[in-house]
Amino acid sequence: DPTKHADWEIAEEAESRMKTVYQLRDELGLEEKELLPYGHYVAKVDFAKVLDRLKDRPDGKYIDVTAITPTPLGEGKSTSTMGLTQGLGKRGKNVIATIRQPSGGPTMNVKGSAAGGGLSQCIPLTPFSLGLTGDINAIMNAHNLGMVALTSRLQHEFNSTDAFLERGNLKRLNIDPRNVEMKWIIDFCAQALRNIIIGLGGRRDGFMMSSGFAIAVSSEVMAILSVAKDLKDMRERMGKIVVAYDKRGNPVTTGDLEVDGAMTAWMVEALNPNLMQTLEGQPTFVHAGPFANIAIGQSSIIADRVALKLGDYVVTESGFAADIGFEKFWNLKCRMSGLTPNCAVVVATIRALKAHGGAPLPMPGQPLDPAYSKEHVEWVEKGCENLIHHINTVKKAGINPVVCINAFHTDTDNEIKAVRRLAEDAGARVALSKHWQYGGEGALEFADAVIEACNEPNDFKYLYELETPLRERIELIAKEVYGADGVEYTPEAMEKAVRMEKDPEIQKLGTCMVKTHLSLTDNPMLKGVPGGWKLRIRDILTYQGAGFVVPVAGAISLMPGTAANPAYRRIDVDTETGKVEGLF
Ligand code: ADP
Repeated sequence: DPTKHADWEIAEEAESRMKTVYQLRDELGLEEKELLPYGHYVAKVDFAKVLDRLKDRPDGKYIDVTAITPTPLGEGKSTSTMGLTQGLGKRGKNVIATIRQPSGGPTMNVKGSAAGGGLSQCIPLTPFSLGLTGDINAIMNAHNLGMVALTSRLQHEFNSTDAFLERGNLKRLNIDPRNVEMKWIIDFCAQALRNIIIGLGGRRDGFMMSSGFAIAVSSEVMAILSVAKDLKDMRERMGKIVVAYDKRGNPVTTGDLEVDGAMTAWMVEALNPNLMQTLEGQPTFVHAGPFANIAIGQSSIIADRVALKLGDYVVTESGFAADIGFEKFWNLKCRMSGLTPNCAVVVATIRALKAHGGAPLPMPGQPLDPAYSKEHVEWVEKGCENLIHHINTVKKAGINPVVCINAFHTDTDNEIKAVRRLAEDAGARVALSKHWQYGGEGALEFADAVIEACNEPNDFKYLYELETPLRERIELIAKEVYGADGVEYTPEAMEKAVRMEKDPEIQKLGTCMVKTHLSLTDNPMLKGVPGGWKLRIRDILTYQGAGFVVPVAGAISLMPGTAANPAYRRIDVDTETGKVEGLF
């Protein structure tokens, strides 16, 4: 009973009966060598073998789960992704979930690992939360090796004569130490590492310069893992990462540093998706990273392609709301994969709708205002403006929206009726779902709505074409998806935009926005559907290896901070059994 037990206790109880990876392999019809076990309950799957063997098999239905604009109350997207998978399983469907791996940052900070909750979770919870099969470690090694190459090259070029460099067969790259694009990475929220000075000491202690750390999951190497088609594609992408600029302003890449091969070497195993399961035993692929606000934040294209070959229904999750997660799923991930979704789910809770509709905003760590547990239909109705905005975004992609009301015990019938009426009027199917409390059994209405939506024809189309000039694209996203009146640029960002529009190589890249997920605007405090505002673009980065330009809106950092009351205070180990407690 999830009203009486913590998520980790429920996970632990279910783990005593979970399927082994060998059972999952047999149910999926995988061949022996296609399964690469990591213990009894986690495995990697050799994607290249599976995709080759099943290349002629038609793909299953493809469902994306997104949500309304997040509030500190949580909408339960991961919970609903797991719940829908379990509901489809209860309906007898051959279903697979594909989700991203959590980052150690939020797992140890406030948010937790987001394995779902209640009776809808991904298990086993401990490996899921604590690094799984080491993909993020591999990313950190690959990425930081690139930084080692860059910083040592700077030192050697600074300390050495041309003749010395020539003897080592090295061409002087003339890297501008004040124009370094890449930072170091670590997978924790370590605000003290945002801005640092490196190379203190003598001649042999590196070149002194300012530097910094970003969170590992925001790395371009993670983005490459999310979008790569196969190892060859990953190898090519790995050489195109722009690490810095030379003194003339020309890009210096990982390829120029001759570190791209070694970086790829760290990543070979990581390219295989990880196989886990829901609380009710449906196979779940966990691959690539979160944070759609500062990264692509989607499960990998490889995992989705494997799942679509093995399953009749594939449920994937795009982090945060439809303006952030779904927009990237739609215009970046699907364009790169060539896959067409059949339906998108917008998850909402009555409580979060109230927060958008004028209820006192909840503060993290503070007790919830009692007004949230009383009926307030007018707050819910007002909050539905945010829901309808996101329904319309899904409709702009030409696919069928399903609204999932993720039920809480405090919801009233009148509040639920109001959401049903408003969302149906906006053209969505609506399902009330009780998967948090009852698992798949509680998600049957939800599963049926999704099956119906998948069986309807759709007219999937991108918001912009790759020929659309960069600033026009940003304007389309700002106006059509965020509801802005227009876009403003800082002088530096404007200069970069103009330069990028003239570069045919950059013009054909995708666009991966960086913007807060907490508002449709670039100001996290503004809820609902704000009007009369312009999106402020502060900088534009190039992720040439991943294949996108990254416009950065508002004041958002690639390194989040750890809060005063973080989750690690409550995580411990039972020293008798070795079991980890307190993860969520
Ligand atoms: P999101 O993916 O939107 O961030 P999660 O699915 O991770 O949200 O859920 C956040 C938290 O809210 C989890 O601890 C989960 O157990 C809890 N939660 C989700 N849905 C419900 C619900 N319907 N009732 C009570 N708690 C819920």
